[in-house]
Amino acid sequence: MLKAICSSTKSFYRMVLMQNESEKKNLGTGVSNNLLDNELNTTGLAAAAMRHLQPSYLEGLNEMQQQGVLNLDGPVLMLAGAGTGKTRALTARIAHIINSGKAKPNQILAVTFTNKAAIEMKARISLFLGDVVEGMPWLGTFHSICSKMLRINAEIAGLNSDFTILDVDDQLRLLKQLIRLEKIDEKRWPPRSLAHIIDNWKNRALSPEKVSDTDSNLFDGNAVKLYTMYQDRLKTLNAVDFGDLLLHVLYILQKDAGLLEKYQSTFKYILVDEYQDTNVAQYLWLRLLAQKKKNICCVGDDDQSIYGWRGAEVGNILRFEKDFPDAKVFRLEQNYRSNKHILSAASNLIKANSSRLGKTLWTESKKEGKVRLVGHWNGEEEARWIGEEIEALARGTRGYDPVPLDEQVILVRASFQMRAFEERFVSIGLPYEVIGGPRFYERLEIRDAIAYLRIATSPTDSLAFERIINTPKRGLGERTVQELNKKSREKNLPLLKSARLAISDGTVVGKGKYELTQLLDKIDLWKKIISEDEKPPFEIAASILDESGYTEMWKNDNSPTSPGRLDNLKELIDAIKDFDNIPGFLEHISLMMENERQDGIAKLKIMTLHAAKGLEFFAVFLPGWEDGLFPSQRSLDETGLKGLEEERRLAYVGITRAIQHCTISFTANRRIYNNWQSAIPSRFLDNLSKEDVEVIVPPTLNQSRFAGNDRNVSRFGSQEFNKADNDFNSTPKIVVKNTVDKYQSPGLRRMATTNHLERSNISSKVPLNQATPSDLEIGEKVFHQKFGYGKVKDIDHDTATIEFKKAGLKKVKSGYLLSKGKLP
Ligand code: ATP
Ligand code: MG
Repeated sequence: MLKAICSSTKSFYRMVLMQNESEKKNLGTGVSNNLLDNELNTTGLAAAAMRHLQPSYLEGLNEMQQQGVLNLDGPVLMLAGAGTGKTRALTARIAHIINSGKAKPNQILAVTFTNKAAIEMKARISLFLGDVVEGMPWLGTFHSICSKMLRINAEIAGLNSDFTILDVDDQLRLLKQLIRLEKIDEKRWPPRSLAHIIDNWKNRALSPEKVSDTDSNLFDGNAVKLYTMYQDRLKTLNAVDFGDLLLHVLYILQKDAGLLEKYQSTFKYILVDEYQDTNVAQYLWLRLLAQKKKNICCVGDDDQSIYGWRGAEVGNILRFEKDFPDAKVFRLEQNYRSNKHILSAASNLIKANSSRLGKTLWTESKKEGKVRLVGHWNGEEEARWIGEEIEALARGTRGYDPVPLDEQVILVRASFQMRAFEERFVSIGLPYEVIGGPRFYERLEIRDAIAYLRIATSPTDSLAFERIINTPKRGLGERTVQELNKKSREKNLPLLKSARLAISDGTVVGKGKYELTQLLDKIDLWKKIISEDEKPPFEIAASILDESGYTEMWKNDNSPTSPGRLDNLKELIDAIKDFDNIPGFLEHISLMMENERQDGIAKLKIMTLHAAKGLEFFAVFLPGWEDGLFPSQRSLDETGLKGLEEERRLAYVGITRAIQHCTISFTANRRIYNNWQSAIPSRFLDNLSKEDVEVIVPPTLNQSRFAGNDRNVSRFGSQEFNKADNDFNSTPKIVVKNTVDKYQSPGLRRMATTNHLERSNISSKVPLNQATPSDLEIGEKVFHQKFGYGKVKDIDHDTATIEFKKAGLKKVKSGYLLSKGKLP
């Protein structure tokens, strides 16, 4: 093997040695050619050259990494675990290709997954080679590179080079037109579903003619036809969507042999990071381009494949050696990132997956510091505690060197989790930034929902009205809004008043008139309800979102983002729970939004686990490790074991981002749509090895807090944690009382009665003292944490109908009530 490397890099090292020799000659310390040859032959080229002059990019690389860097010719796969220096080796390889003159910077195709990764890669190369990196037009993401290729060769795909890349809104508008044209029931088959289906096909490199019959019964059997029409329409408009960027490039390369040949010759070297997450289209594109020279180097980790839901095929990386039979495969095993406990905890966790290659990672790191596992009462306490920890780490008051804020990160499974953290950090003035997406209150669905609350509270808020007038679609399009705005300007009226006028003076007629009247009537009603101040504000907000059709709009939306958006809306409703009225909540939001940019200072980062791929941080916080949230119930419901394994890989990615501090937390209760739901600690905790985990008890979670509470509650208190600390894996099995409610998914409900609970090492419990149905009597006085005092009107199994003093008649699970003798 080493011989092969030697011959492939012989000229380079000879050059290095000669160069060095001439430097020495100048200094009067020359060595003879013989000597040089001798050294080349006896000690191995790499070592010999390095002793004389080691290019900086090779500095410190281990043997395997060096092989990955120096073995320039032929296919190379670096298949290795997290933090083993794959990206570092890949970057050094690029530097080496350029430095050794094997290719010019513009003859290298280097692909990464995110813009952030591309920027980092450029920065690393420029550290080695300076400005040279500016001459690398083909270093970037799949999309950016394909967009460039397509612009150069647009005419072959039937486009002009100034084609437009459609955003999601434009795309949906176009699809909607087509669905209507075909007279398909839009409610049953919404445009977003079609967008999603088409995107999936494009990820699999399927143009309309390649879609198989079995796929085609969607959209009343018209999906493929719609796809064809959509592609035709895009061509007429000289436009493409994101999926097209790759699909068109693939098409033109397959169609035009001369062009393919040209690119195959141009790209003397191809390098791909995070190869495990390539989809079929990306894979085919790379394979085509690499076919001639076969100088392709892919790096990746099958254990970090986390984009299956977006069409990524982990099989691509496992198939590499078949695709390129003479491939050299380097397995890096030394982890340079994490301390030994973090590495060991992550390795043990991922062992539980069955479909993996399996690898053993090791580290020389002698650093101590176990993975900390913390249970909290609820999400707010979790946010408070994490905020304090982050500040303490930043100040260096934890017995460690201070960890600057920008070296700390919170990685969440679902974006709705960010809300509690953001609120907390704004209130304590902890600078933070959300990476890879907007802040919680800046999200599209949250802005829409808030606009509804604003117009229902203040009818003069024209911006809010304009935002929601046609969201969801009511046939009150741009032209109507223009008319209303014109009226507002002429008569100096708020938009809502112009709308009333437009109805009475006949500016708006037909269906538009009907819809607008309906909307105005609803706004009047909501305003009345808000001003009466009788119902809890969260309930009012929830009904505004329901009655306006806004929640429904996202429920009917089958795109991959819609479940997350629905979760965010629930989280918003949950946030309102802490306010006495809606105007108070809106006031709070404006303060949150005001607390905007703080440039030039170190900021804590918050991002999703998916966005954290490839990155590393000194301190990592992983909140929300509860079954249903992580692993995500949706994943389990949709893809079963496959989904579970992908979730576990995501957990592995999360832990392995940490260099020195890794803290996992879970809560006993999550409030979902204002219903307390007892949460079950994530099954992934079972996969952690006890010697790598330190279970800690936050000061807020002590016995006195729950004094007088029932058995289940006290089990979650410090006693149980101390016990767990002593013997993490042998903590007595605790069966969690099933307190699931109607907002819980069927899967979680199922799970709550299955063995998983018994497997769970750490208990979870319901938030309140429970009254069992048999405790209750009709007419009895009860107390509910949210609704306060009430009287039992009826009992049906475990559900009681209660007349609450303030909140009115409600059906609640009896487990959420305190009754006789337990009332506060
Ligand atoms: P991931 O799988 O998370 O993408 P990776 O395999 O790409 O990880 P890198 O990000 O390249 O790993 O490296 C992880 C860390 O280890 C980085 O801080 C990097 O600088 C450091 N590192 C890599 N190789 C070495 C080495 N030979 N000596 C010292 N540090 C190294
Ligand atoms: Mg990497």
